[in-house]
Amino acid sequence: MLFSVWVGCSKNESEAEEEIVAAEEEQLPSCVDYSSVVQDDLMTYWNLFVEDVKCSRGGPDYGASHNAVSVRFVVLTPQQQASGVTPDHAGFSTFNGYCFSDIVDIGVIKDFWEDYNEIQKLWLMYHEFGHDVYRYEHSSDPSDIMWPSVPRSDVKINDFIEAKNRFIRRDFEGVRYIQCPDLD
Ligand SMILES: [Zn+2]
Repeated sequence: MLFSVWVGCSKNESEAEEEIVAAEEEQLPSCVDYSSVVQDDLMTYWNLFVEDVKCSRGGPDYGASHNAVSVRFVVLTPQQQASGVTPDHAGFSTFNGYCFSDIVDIGVIKDFWEDYNEIQKLWLMYHEFGHDVYRYEHSSDPSDIMWPSVPRSDVKINDFIEAKNRFIRRDFEGVRYIQCPDLD
C-alpha cells in the first residue's frame, strides 16, 4: 500500500497538519515510465513502445526494424464523419503499416484523442501498434489491449500494465493475426 502524505498549513501557520489524502493501489512494476510521453507528440508513444518491448522482453528492437514510421494526427472530413467513424475508432493503422514489416503507418483523430485521459491514450496507441507491428486482430476480451474499443475513463494504470504484459508476450486468449498477401 502506498500512502500519499499531504503536509499543509492551517490558519495558524505554526500548526502544520498531516493528512492522508488517498490510499492508492501500488503501481505494478514496469521498465518504462508511462508518464514520460508527451501527449501532443505521437512519436513519443512509438519510442515508449519500442523501449517497453526491449526492456520487458529483451527485444526485438522495433525501432531498428521499422525505419519508415508515420504516426500522425488526422482531421476527419465531414464526409468521413458522416460515413460513420465512431470514437471507438479514434486511431487506425493502414495496410502499408501492418502488411509491410518495416513500415509503421498510424493515424489518430485529434478531436477524439483530446477527450481521452492519459491511460486511454496509451491504450489506443498500443492497440494501433498491435495491429501495425504484431499484426494482431481484435480480441474478444474487453480487458485486452486488442479489444476493439478504448476502455472507459476509469481504467487504471495497472489494468493497462497487465494487458500490455500479455500483449507483449503474445499471450492472450484467442490471439489471431491479420493475414497479409506475400509481400515482404
Ligand atoms: Zn483495432
